[in-house]
Amino acid sequence: MKGRKLLMIPGPIEFEPKVLQALATPTDSHVSPNFINTFGNSIELMRKVWQSPKGQPFIMAGSGTLAMDMAVVNLIEPNDNVLVISTGYFGERYADICKRYEANVTILTTKVGDTVSLNDIEKELSTKNYKLLTITHVDTSTGVLVNPQPIAKLAKKYNTLSVLDGVCSVAGEEIKQDEWELDVVFTASQKAIGVPPGLALLVASEKAIETFKNRKTPVSNYYADFTNWLPIMNSYEKRQASYFGTPPVNLIAALEVSLQHIVNEGINNRIVRHKKIATAFREAMFALSLKILPISIDISANTLTATFFPENINGNDFLSEISKNDIILAGGLLPSHKTQYFRVGHMGSVNTNDIIATIAAVENSLSKNGYSFETGIGVKTALKILGS
Ligand code: PMP
Repeated sequence: MKGRKLLMIPGPIEFEPKVLQALATPTDSHVSPNFINTFGNSIELMRKVWQSPKGQPFIMAGSGTLAMDMAVVNLIEPNDNVLVISTGYFGERYADICKRYEANVTILTTKVGDTVSLNDIEKELSTKNYKLLTITHVDTSTGVLVNPQPIAKLAKKYNTLSVLDGVCSVAGEEIKQDEWELDVVFTASQKAIGVPPGLALLVASEKAIETFKNRKTPVSNYYADFTNWLPIMNSYEKRQASYFGTPPVNLIAALEVSLQHIVNEGINNRIVRHKKIATAFREAMFALSLKILPISIDISANTLTATFFPENINGNDFLSEISKNDIILAGGLLPSHKTQYFRVGHMGSVNTNDIIATIAAVENSLSKNGYSFETGIGVKTALKILGS
């Protein structure tokens, strides 16, 4: 017995042992040659993972919400128009953040489980001059996947900056930041990038940096201000000592290990692995006659799946039975549907054993909670896909 439960929530996830070992090494000075090199390497590796050779990476102590903050506070000024394309809870959060920075915010949304049509986005962009738009690549509350590429193209057409919340997608879903001309793409360490919680990771395009440099008013958030951090990122990349705020030395050591691991696996291989595991899990749920939140497979995330409980099954009972099988899953997050579904994270180091164990635990819990189905049908369906 391992003495611990398998963490299958949509972040934090299970981490590679060598990433955890990096966290447990003695802490270097933040200006030691060893750490300067680790920081510089991590910046360079981020460009590879984001597929953004021209982008400017930022590595910050903080969670994904700090990255959301940073992306907009550095680029917008009071009364700028911002378009938030929302597919759930984190889109709503983005609108709140932009309002806090005194933007004029318009939210485009649609029914739960669907994406906003390109037509509607273009119609809105043509009504006024939008400085910036935000896209949630995968909304972790619904498991809905948005295709950012055509939206970034539209943003470009209307001279609007595009910001991609990739907290639940970077290193798990396909992103080509430079080719798709996305201006900012960010994530948080605890998701598919594979490092324990505590890092906000962001890459800004040349155009985003130029927009920041041309602003007329000061950035209205001291900690998040690029003015403070851009010279630090540049110094570390040149392998020079620098200080503004003490960096999280051990987390960045772990980041370097994880980014290198991702690059060694190969971004494309990693995306294919995520797709296969996600397909296996979803098809297993369908074989059990369960329904998922996204209205179609084309817009279902490969990093997590949100599945409705069958009727008459109490969510808490279902999840506590799963926990008895030493697996932790997450409940719902979207306020309107919170008690009606559960979420399984399948990103980062997730492997075939993890997903099969999870499906088996789902079957076991369904059975204990009185749901009738052909025992083993979910596992059998997944195995067929995973073995193909
Ligand atoms: N955006 C998305 C899509 C997320 O999934 C999350 C976290 N689940 C956040 C933003 C916020 O990140 P954090 O919890 O690390 O602040």
